[in-house]
Amino acid sequence: MSEAEQTLSIIKPDAVERNLEKEIKTIFEKSGLKIINSKKIHLSKEEAADFYKVHQTKPFYDRLCSYLSSGPIIAMILEGSNAIKKNRELMGATDPLKAAPNTIRKLYGVSIDKNSVHGSDSPENAAAEIKFFFK
Ligand code: UDP
Ligand code: MG
Repeated sequence: MSEAEQTLSIIKPDAVERNLEKEIKTIFEKSGLKIINSKKIHLSKEEAADFYKVHQTKPFYDRLCSYLSSGPIIAMILEGSNAIKKNRELMGATDPLKAAPNTIRKLYGVSIDKNSVHGSDSPENAAAEIKFFFK
């Protein structure tokens, strides 16, 4: 038995632009994750850089921050048993080409950068990322 846990999910600009909000939210809800808060927001590049600061040494950092701030996104708090792991499973591998069948990234991802969703990867990052969008 495990306690309800919370994680942060983001529907990235490529998926918002293609009107995939409903489809993606349905995937979460059908697998038992409750969407307890949701907001549409357009980050500045500085805010995106702050959000993704764990990746600041990576070669793709600048492109990643430009991309996340290129259009509106939908930030959500998902809640449920093992929410962090469950969300990562529903998302699939970072590269849509390597993602398992029926994962969000396999279904909707366009490329490794335009991969439609973000999900927290640990309890520490989930808490920090939830605070970033919903304080
Ligand atoms: N990313 C990229 N190129 C790479 C690796 C990652 O553009 O070679 C982007 C991709 O959009 C990914 C994000 O950077 O979702 C964060 O990378 P991370 O390794 O944390 O992947 P995730 O946790 O999103 O699966
Ligand atoms: Mg990550």
